[in-house]
Amino acid sequence: MDTKIINLQLLDQSEVDTAYAEAAGIIREGGLVAFPTETVYGLGANALDEQAAAKIYAAKGRPSDNPLIAHISREQQLEEIAAYIPETARILMKHYWPGPLTMIFRKKDIVPRGTTGGLDTVAVRMPDHPVARRLIDAAGVPIAAPSANLSGRPSPTTAERTAEDMEGKIEMILDGGPCRIGIESTIVDMTEDIPVILRPGFITYEMLRELLGEVRKDRALDAKEWRYFRPKAPGQKYRHYAPKAPMTLVEGGIEAVTAKICDLTDASIREGKKVGVICTDETEACYHQGIVKSMGSRVRLESVAHNLYEILREFDETGVEVIYSEAFPSDELGFAVMNRLVKAAGHKEIQV
Ligand code: AMP
Ligand code: MG
Repeated sequence: MDTKIINLQLLDQSEVDTAYAEAAGIIREGGLVAFPTETVYGLGANALDEQAAAKIYAAKGRPSDNPLIAHISREQQLEEIAAYIPETARILMKHYWPGPLTMIFRKKDIVPRGTTGGLDTVAVRMPDHPVARRLIDAAGVPIAAPSANLSGRPSPTTAERTAEDMEGKIEMILDGGPCRIGIESTIVDMTEDIPVILRPGFITYEMLRELLGEVRKDRALDAKEWRYFRPKAPGQKYRHYAPKAPMTLVEGGIEAVTAKICDLTDASIREGKKVGVICTDETEACYHQGIVKSMGSRVRLESVAHNLYEILREFDETGVEVIYSEAFPSDELGFAVMNRLVKAAGHKEIQV
């Protein structure tokens, strides 16, 4: 299949109108369009069309029991697909929609099980990216859209990275420039009496607790307990976000961490290996060997979230054979950043 890549930033007004009309037509006819959101690029299909959803799983190579998030642009669309919307959800909608927050509801029959991985719940998000919103409006249906990467790979945060994984497999990629946030939405299960965070994201546990009083973290998110619990978000059970080279996270006081990574790097280089080091602006000068990349500043974790996936993909291109990465404190946005890093490392962590 020929994938049409359309850079919206280079078009004039009437060409932009034509591009959205064409993209919306593809979605309505059951095809696939990748598009930018404020979190990462999404791989979109009509969420109400089981066969279209099946194409998403095929293009990504994703296990079909891993449900998809339905993206909407108006609140009315939530009423059409969710069977029950609790008051707590209305509070969250008021504060964080449109934005990087996904909520899980009991689904209505109109949503096929092919979209929800066989579950009778549906995950819903209203993105705030103008391209995503206009595409959903133009299509006139909720758009199911997982991250537009091959299953297991780091999520794409630019159209170029999306094309790397999806060119030849889907009808169209809309290029709207790099994503602002860089990691996926926070997922909260609203079907429980006390809302449960299934995936941490830019909207933090602390922010949700401040608004709702009570919020829980799914036990599968606890690094020490993840092995023993059947995860509620099926995505949690798969190896994820991973660079090609094996990666080890080093956790502890920052001086001990940099010293340990220097030792590990030294040892790997002596074994003849090409080494990658993932660090931060504050620690970059501590490393003198291997390919060293800073994700951003420790005091501005948004910068780390923004660059994380891009750096994992850059390391794939350098052909490093082993990666050592600094860890972060797991509160506030650090919870989401660490969730991705721990998975990228396949839970390989060293405490110092
Ligand atoms: P992605 O589409 O790559 O952002 O991943 C979507 C995540 O949302 C996956 O980890 C899914 O398991 C999770 N998800 C989507 N729908 C549901 C649902 N109904 N219940 C629980 N988790 C869900
Ligand atoms: Mg994903």
